[in-house]
Amino acid sequence: MSTTSILLASSPTPSKVALVTGGASGIGESIVHLFHTHGAKICIVDVQDNLGKQVCESLGDEANVVFFHCDVTVEEDVSHAVDFTVDRFGTLDIIVNNAGISGSPCADIRTADLSEFDKVFSINVKGVFHGMKHAARIMIPKKKGSIVSLSSVASAIGGIGPHAYTGSKYAVLGLTKNVAAELGKHGIRVNCVSPYGVATGLSLAHLPEDERTEDALAGFRDFTGRMANLEGVELTTHDVANAVLFLASDDARYISGDNLMVDGGFTSANHSLKVFR
Ligand code: NAD
Repeated sequence: MSTTSILLASSPTPSKVALVTGGASGIGESIVHLFHTHGAKICIVDVQDNLGKQVCESLGDEANVVFFHCDVTVEEDVSHAVDFTVDRFGTLDIIVNNAGISGSPCADIRTADLSEFDKVFSINVKGVFHGMKHAARIMIPKKKGSIVSLSSVASAIGGIGPHAYTGSKYAVLGLTKNVAAELGKHGIRVNCVSPYGVATGLSLAHLPEDERTEDALAGFRDFTGRMANLEGVELTTHDVANAVLFLASDDARYISGDNLMVDGGFTSANHSLKVFR
């Protein structure tokens, strides 16, 4: 058992309680599986009820993994989801604000659809803020807690996602830093994780429809066909879940306000200057 495992689910200390938004598929589903392996009690929230319930059933642990329908854009839904988690498991130690959408593929800014922009911000930014706000309501009186949100490599450089998506992921980083600044005095840590491209429903939506195959992001390519930085390793949702687990756990007990890149060095490299060939 790794150190992270011991600290997340150490015995005789009770297991930690986590709420994972967007836990019905993709990265969120991997987070749920990994947290479960490490002994956490989990409330999965999502708008895809059937998929969410399937994830619960696949784990076969009704006592410790539950599903709650919640649209993260609706504050009341998020508030109810947090209260449901606390009623069911007694507390809330961790929230993972993972639910997100990519919006339509990159388009000419002159023809940008503003309702699309609002939709992306509503889920990716307002949804995260709702999660932070209602988790803080439970965590502040307990003087502890960990808030982890999903940002993206698009929080570090431009040109690798649609405008609204990139703006929303920079906003997640801004919220992370500001809320970390407020909640530090209550012993609560606030961080985000920024993955490179990994094949999920969301990332494939970045691509034109005829390119959305299962291996579209396989290997050593990014969305635009340029090279990723790290050769010989393919990013998986499990790699992202591991980073989230680390930040959620007591192993990261002095880390707050951080943006943990899970990108194989992609955002460290200057892709215009081909110095290293
Ligand atoms: P995904 O589409 O597989 O999963 C997203 C989940 O969020 C889905 O289950 C969906 O139903 C849920 N969701 C969407 N809108 C919701 C709402 N209003 N309320 C509740 N749930 C909602 O996508 P993913 O790739 O697993 O993305 C997860 C997170 O990781 C997102 O925030 C995304 O921006 C981020 N991310 C993904 C990648 C990637 O390449 N896949 C890269 C960087 C960051």
